[in-house]
Order: sequence, then C-alpha cells, then structure tokens
Amino acid sequence: MLLKDQNQTARAIELEEKYGAHNYHPLPVVLNKGEGVYVWDVEGKRYYDFLSAYSAVNQGHCHPRIIGSLKDQAEKLTLTSRAFHSDQLGIYEKYVTDFFGFDKVLPMNTGAEAVETAIKLCRKYAYEKKSIPEEKAKIIVCENNFHGRTTTIISFSNDETAKKNFGPYTPGFIKIPYDDTDALERALEENDHIAGFLVEPIQGEAGVYVPSEGYLKKAFEICKKNDVLFIADEVQTGIARTGRLLATCGNCNCEDKNCSGTPDVKPDILILGKAISGGVYPVSAVFANDDIMEVIKPGQHGSTFGGNPMASAVAMAALRVVKEENLAENAEKMGDLFRKEMNLLVKESDLVTLVRGKGLLNAIVINDTEDSDKAWNICLKLRDKGLLAKPTHGNIIRFAPPLIITEKQLMDCVKIIRDTILSFES
Ligand SMILES: *Cc1c(COP(=O)(O)O)cnc(C)c1O
Repeated sequence: MLLKDQNQTARAIELEEKYGAHNYHPLPVVLNKGEGVYVWDVEGKRYYDFLSAYSAVNQGHCHPRIIGSLKDQAEKLTLTSRAFHSDQLGIYEKYVTDFFGFDKVLPMNTGAEAVETAIKLCRKYAYEKKSIPEEKAKIIVCENNFHGRTTTIISFSNDETAKKNFGPYTPGFIKIPYDDTDALERALEENDHIAGFLVEPIQGEAGVYVPSEGYLKKAFEICKKNDVLFIADEVQTGIARTGRLLATCGNCNCEDKNCSGTPDVKPDILILGKAISGGVYPVSAVFANDDIMEVIKPGQHGSTFGGNPMASAVAMAALRVVKEENLAENAEKMGDLFRKEMNLLVKESDLVTLVRGKGLLNAIVINDTEDSDKAWNICLKLRDKGLLAKPTHGNIIRFAPPLIITEKQLMDCVKIIRDTILSFES
C-alpha cells in the first residue's frame, strides 16, 4: 500500500468531514469502484459488500445490463417532467404493474417520497371513498418502524435520534407493537376513522426483526374485515431480497407454485424503492388498484423527476435482471446456507447470541449492550479482512450481500466472519 493512497483515503474523509453535513457516521473506508458482489477502495483493496447500500444493490454493483440501459437512455432523453409524455414511461408502467400484479403505479424517486405518497393516497381514499370526516383519518403504524426521514415520517418514529427537535410533528398516526395482531385488533376497536395500517414485512432498520409465522396474513385479514387499507413498505424487503420477489407475495406473478412467502397477503398499497433500480438511479414506486389510485387527480400530487425516462429505462432493466438471473431463488438458497453457518458460529462463540433473517436479509446479535462499541470494532476488523458491514442499534450487525452471490463467495465470507468473531473471543 502506497503512502499516496493512504493520504487519498485520509483526504477524502477529511473533505467530507469539513464540507459535508454530519448526518451520517460512515465506516472509515473510501470506495471508488464496484462490480458484482465486490467494491474497491482508493488504495486498491477489494471487499465483499455485505450491506448492498441497504439492499439497493440486489443485482450487484454496476450490472452491465442495467448500466447499458442507463447509458443508452442518457444519450437520448433524460428528463421531460410530467408536463409532457415520454416514450419510456408508459412502457415502464405497463411492465412494472404486470410484474407486481397491480392495476396502476405512481412513480417517485426515493423510498421516503413513496411512503409519503402512500400516506396521501390512503388519506384521500378514506375521505373520498369511505366518508371518513375531513382531518380525522388515522393510520396505524408499528413501533420501531423505519419508513424514511421526512417530517411526517419521523413524526411516527420512536427513534429519538431521528425525531428529537424536529417537531412539531404530523398528527394522525397510532403506534402499536410490531408482530402483535391483538394490538392491531384493539387499536381498531378503540379508535374511529382508521384509514390504513402501514407495516414493514420484516423490520430491516430496527435490526432485521422477522415477525412470527402468519403475522402478516392475520394482520391482512384483520384489515380486510375492518375495511382498512393494508399498506406494505417493501422498500427494503422487496425485489427478491427475502427469497421472494416480494415478502408479501400477493399477486406478484413470481410463478412459484411452492411459494412459501405469504401468498394470501396482497397489499392494497405496495411501496417499493431501493433495488427497483438496482441501486443505479433513485427510483421508487407506489402500487394500487384502480379503485384506490383513481382518487389522485391531476395537480394533486407529483414530482419533477418522478417517472423520468432514465428511471423508467433503468428500472425495467433492473427488474429483468431479477427475473432472468433467478435472484429470488438464489437469495433463498444462499440465505438458508448463511443462517445454517451462522448458527454453527452461535454455538461456537459466546460473542454472537443469535442470527435471524429471511433470504439474504440477515443480522447477527452481538452479546453486548446497545451502547458498547464492540459491534463497531467487529465491523472495522471485518473491513480489514475484506468484508464491509455496518452495525445497527449498537449491537446488531446486518448482513445483506448482493443477491448474485455464489456459494463459493458466500462460504468465503462465512470464513471471514467466523475468523473475525473468534479473534474477539480471546
Ligand atoms: C430505506 C427505506 C426507506 C426510505 O428510503 P429512502 O430512499 O432512503 O428515502 C423506507 N422504508 C424502508 C423500509 C426502508 O428500508
């Protein structure tokens, strides 16, 4: 390693420190290249990416087909705004609604915007189709949720760091415990004017909390019975991450006869983001059937970049890759193998108390308090050994590699993780 390269690392970090807002605390590594499951730092060192940009890069870094469509489209037309039509948007909208089995899509750019869109859609539907009195609609959400960072979304977060001193907060949300259908039933009995239930099929940011078997199905049935919209935030769990195209498998056309996802759960509103573009371009989407989507009329919602030609072309290419490379199937297989291997490590080491997850969305829990820096130090050591991961909530480490990972690569990573953990034992 050359001194010049080390200086480059220090310099890059210094510049961010000095000129950028301090709203993140990144692992000290400076990347300048990505390909497949790998990323490289400015010193030329190669790493396995076990975060995949929070599950945005499911298809692997710089997938040639996705980048190809980006380049092609970039040379033709990038942005029209929705003041005019483009030749890409309609084709994309047909493709993506067929893909996920909904009548219509509302295209946005980021996950948070899509969640905001779903909230607006749910409220408007409540007032116009369910005659809930104006200003009264309420949406039930779950404790420890993560739905993004806008003012309204943090209003119903219970993460103090995300919330404190950003008030006044948006009213109209009722918080109940996650994975608790009794609480959902109680909230519906005790409150009038409930318009929707917003839920993550697995709570990713909270630390990869997988709800108990049957939770989503039961919650969905309760919503149906009470005429409440079931809104699934699949920004992180969607696009094959959990071993299915969607974690709420609904009518996703995945053509898997043995689907053990949740085929009976078809969200009224489905929110996707992150990997819908393979991490190549900010693309998010809100899906619903006509009965719901028709409440939004011209001028009532929008975004300058939402549904632009680049986003349309890139997202279509990214979804084709998911299907043609059987990423859901691989995520399921590799995920099973990964948890099997991690469970062996749990037996072997006192430092790791458990592994949990579904498909390739997994986390291990470090036997320490939330405020200890043990997990952070483990991640630094993993980095030194060539694997990038990030702690969440102090003592949880999420492992979410690109879904194209091979068995050989995965076993290589298992060895890195095992060696690292065991090195902390002595
Ligand atoms: C990442 C994420 C979001 C927010 O997406 P952004 O693109 O960062 O705004 C929303 N919901 C879930 C479940 C997420 O994981």
